[in-house]
Amino acid sequence: MKRRNFIRNIGIAGVGLPLIPNNLSFDLSGNKNIPVHSPVSITTWNFQEANRTAGELLQKGISALDAVEQGVRIEESNIKNHTVGKGGAPDRDGKVTLDAIIMAPNGNFGSVAFLENIEHPVSVARKVMEETPHNMLVGEGAYQFALSQGFEPENLLTEESEKQWKNWLVEKEYKPIINIENHDTIGMLCLDSKGDIAGACTTSGLAYKMRGRVGDSPIIGSGLFIDNEVGGAVATGLGEEILKNVSTFLIVELMRSGKSPQEACEIAVERIVKKPTDLKDFQVAFLALNKNGEVGSYCIHPGFSYALHSKGDEEAVQSKSYLAEK
Ligand code: ASP
Repeated sequence: MKRRNFIRNIGIAGVGLPLIPNNLSFDLSGNKNIPVHSPVSITTWNFQEANRTAGELLQKGISALDAVEQGVRIEESNIKNHTVGKGGAPDRDGKVTLDAIIMAPNGNFGSVAFLENIEHPVSVARKVMEETPHNMLVGEGAYQFALSQGFEPENLLTEESEKQWKNWLVEKEYKPIINIENHDTIGMLCLDSKGDIAGACTTSGLAYKMRGRVGDSPIIGSGLFIDNEVGGAVATGLGEEILKNVSTFLIVELMRSGKSPQEACEIAVERIVKKPTDLKDFQVAFLALNKNGEVGSYCIHPGFSYALHSKGDEEAVQSKSYLAEK
């Protein structure tokens, strides 16, 4: 009996099975049960270079976990990006404090929050996951751990960010502009050629935040959640709103119960907007990817876009938004 027929037949009979999950496609031509996927990389906003880096690594057969780390590191080093890593806007006291998370297909994650003077918080987060019995380190403890792992301390406040902060101190009239100034966290999801999903999210958080403020980005189930049986989701936007709704965990659970990534993102946004909040003041955006490589995204205000790399092609995609549709 040909393998294709064999698998179909035992599926119908439903006995004695290695059950084939509905959400995986299999190469039935050979002898091995290898899921066939075109690698997919998706990234919040227009971080094409970061997304391309991850996408190309995936094309070469690199794991999703390595790809997300290498991808988001591009933006952590980009001093023109004032919301991630080096060059990120400081808190109201003039200090750059970083948050990051990384989650592996095996269900483990590492994260750091309120980390200062280290350019690559995502890599520190990975070390937390792999080298400690813990999942999250913050502040001075995270910093000391980073040094112990060989990370070099560095001043992350660039001249440009310092100048903007000083202007803010004078004007104090600064108002965040939705989609442009304050919400450019990089969140990335990758599906590799073995069919495994990993994710990462890294940010300097809201510009001129109170000292010690931590948003959604490094918090499991808020800024990022992955379940390798189902898919993953990442968030960007006003962290306080995402935290209150544990949104990326919600999105993955909705996908588990059969919703598409698009439907799941829409429900998660609706969960936020139906609460009594003034929507004109903030943006929230979600991105989701399932095990079939299907992508969804949804946000409150028009203007959120994401970078997609799939089958070697790349594109920038405009997300649908709640306010454009209502
Ligand atoms: N979600 C991030 C935070 O609240 C900000 C962002 O996405 O730009 O810290």
